[in-house]
Amino acid sequence: MTPGLMQDGAQRMAHAHHRRSSATVSGDRRPGIGRLHVPGEIDVTHGRILYLEDVHVSFDGFKAINGLSLDIAPGELRCIIGPNGAGKTTMMDIITGKTRPDRGRVFLGSTIDLLRYREADIATMGIGRKFQKPTVFEHLSVFENLELALAANKSVRSSLLFRLTPLQRERLAEVLITIQLGTHAKDLAGTLSHGQKQWLEIGMLLMQEPRLLLLDEPVAGMTDEETERTAELFLSLKGKHSLVVVEHDMNFIRAIADTVTVLCDGAVLAEGTLDHVQADQRVIDVYLGR
Ligand code: ADP
Ligand code: MG
Repeated sequence: MTPGLMQDGAQRMAHAHHRRSSATVSGDRRPGIGRLHVPGEIDVTHGRILYLEDVHVSFDGFKAINGLSLDIAPGELRCIIGPNGAGKTTMMDIITGKTRPDRGRVFLGSTIDLLRYREADIATMGIGRKFQKPTVFEHLSVFENLELALAANKSVRSSLLFRLTPLQRERLAEVLITIQLGTHAKDLAGTLSHGQKQWLEIGMLLMQEPRLLLLDEPVAGMTDEETERTAELFLSLKGKHSLVVVEHDMNFIRAIADTVTVLCDGAVLAEGTLDHVQADQRVIDVYLGR
């Protein structure tokens, strides 16, 4: 796939209203940020794909993120838990460039300083973000939704005339199976269950071949069975991709957890295996024991 396709597709899914090509958009109001060459390779030779150090963000004096540090390894599936208002979504906003921290360091791999880039540029760098609500195109088929994830570099009209290369067709078929919608390829997305729509949206992200996936409360509103199948899906993705998963559903967390990070008041309260953080009295006090 060309970087151009990857760039615009990821951007479109994060911000459907954004129509402009990302790398050359001017008019950013941040000081010192102009047109930058978007780096292609993420350097993980130092064993990390994402690195946050002592990040701070205030909203009107309220410290939403207050000294947050985080280290994600390539292929890792990291779970993030914590009470409402802990700063979990804001953390994702910072990684994706939607919110600019007051201070701190945010790196993709060991060489890409994400704070130097705008949101639209970051969307081209192999970071896929899944928001809580599914935003699939309901009037298009499952297949067409996945196709559009590749074709989004063009206007919607020409996208519908977009022809997949054999390699892209193969990838699409693979993704259909991964997201367990193989038998629904021709169904309109609007006819899918809530859980299936969530999988389709994850599939649309996967079409971009992201290195890092950020997933905010992915099983909210799912049935128990859908939740179990989502756990299987995420387990099948880890290794190939790095995943950062924010979720409240502890059964789901238990099913997928390696390392769990507990966020509270904008910083890491505890980190380790699920057993380790569950036994931490501070975690019980602020979150688990509610
Ligand atoms: P979580 O996802 O862990 O529930 P959030 O990151 O959404 O928490 O929010 C953390 C805190 O920051 C909350 O108190 C929230 O109200 C506040 N907050 C988040 N975004 C903004 C914003 N754009 N403006 C003002 N306050 C915000
Ligand atoms: Mg949130």
